[in-house]
Amino acid sequence: MQNKYTKAFAKQLDQQDPLHQYRNEFYFPQHNGEDVIYLCGNSLGLQPKGVEAALKHELDHWKIHGVEGHFKGEMPWMYYHKFLTKQSANLVGAKEHEVVVMNTLTTNLHLMMVSFYRPSPTRYKIIMEGGAFPSDQYAMESQVRLQGYDPEDAIVEIHPRPGEFSIRDEDIIEKIKEIGDELALSMFSGIQYYSGQFFDMKSITKAAHDVGAYAGFDLAHTAGNMLLELHDWKVDFAVWCSYKYLNSGPGGPSGAFVHEQHGDNPELLRFAGWWGHDEENRFLMKKGFIPMKGAAGWQLSNAQIFSMAAHKVSLDQFEKVGMNALRKKSEQLTDYMFTGIQELNKRGHQYNVITPVEKHRRGAQLSILTDANGKKLFEHLTANGVVADWREPNVIRVAAVPMYNSFEDVWKFLELLKG
Ligand SMILES: *Cc1c(COP(=O)(O)O)cnc(C)c1O
Repeated sequence: MQNKYTKAFAKQLDQQDPLHQYRNEFYFPQHNGEDVIYLCGNSLGLQPKGVEAALKHELDHWKIHGVEGHFKGEMPWMYYHKFLTKQSANLVGAKEHEVVVMNTLTTNLHLMMVSFYRPSPTRYKIIMEGGAFPSDQYAMESQVRLQGYDPEDAIVEIHPRPGEFSIRDEDIIEKIKEIGDELALSMFSGIQYYSGQFFDMKSITKAAHDVGAYAGFDLAHTAGNMLLELHDWKVDFAVWCSYKYLNSGPGGPSGAFVHEQHGDNPELLRFAGWWGHDEENRFLMKKGFIPMKGAAGWQLSNAQIFSMAAHKVSLDQFEKVGMNALRKKSEQLTDYMFTGIQELNKRGHQYNVITPVEKHRRGAQLSILTDANGKKLFEHLTANGVVADWREPNVIRVAAVPMYNSFEDVWKFLELLKG
């Protein structure tokens, strides 16, 4: 059998890859005069080359038109958020009016909690994964306190079984049944930031609904990474950020999804702002909030034009490439990395990949649990031009991102893992 782990073979895979040329549309940081091996797109995606011109365009628009910029040009600021809606909806499998781009992720999580966590003394519990991203933990705890409940009692965390690293979906579903009619909300990530596990969102949503609870998801590591069908899965709400797999720059805007069965209900309680108010009458400046239909009715403020302009460049790229093609390549690329690590282990290395083995339970990212020498290994990788990330206490996360990583990147990384 041909050795798949040679430079020549990796290059051959790149030649066969229909998406290979998209790599040229990004800026790679440099290391000793060469592109770094960038495996950190799960944390901050690379800069698309088109962003600079897009930002310049909006700066010029402001310079030339001042306040009139709200109404002039092809993409007047007044409606700017709308120019991002259709592409965002396609990314997550939603109808257009179920999606809006606004604010940042944790802010949107709070806005959704205000509407979807309405506890009563008999139904007040939230189930979430143990060890969730800290911002999500803090958001849940503070929302529970805001409603007068005790996080220790109200938040049920579910963990992997002893000796395992990912949570079994059937354990989540079992736990949801067990909490039963005390459950107000199921709140999971799509992809868990630490382990890289992809949860069975459809089954979790169904289980939550079966006991009369809502199901929300934080898709920070999932949007632009996995194929999603939020509408068909009947997810109640979801939020994501745009700066990880979606390459829209630091602090980039967030997306929010509200299923139409809630979004079109003006009675649903929410925190309101003028941009969520009925568009026709927004500028009458009258008393009395009338929400827009759909997710747009959760907007607070007028659009953050500069960060949205960067996001738009990336959304155009995702539209052009298509999530199906990206996911197809992603599976191959991450599988190449995964089986490459297994090969190394056959030859005496002991890299413990804690991300699930099954392709449908993981995205681009692999998390490697290291031993006492982990920090040294990480430093060795860094010194040799790999950009990855280290998560305390001892995990190295690497993501081979299908939009811009090559099979050769993965091969180089595997070579460096030889020590
Ligand atoms: C990246 C990430 C965040 C970051 O939130 P911001 O509000 O954008 O700073 C929150 N939650 C999860 C799960 C994340 O992965």
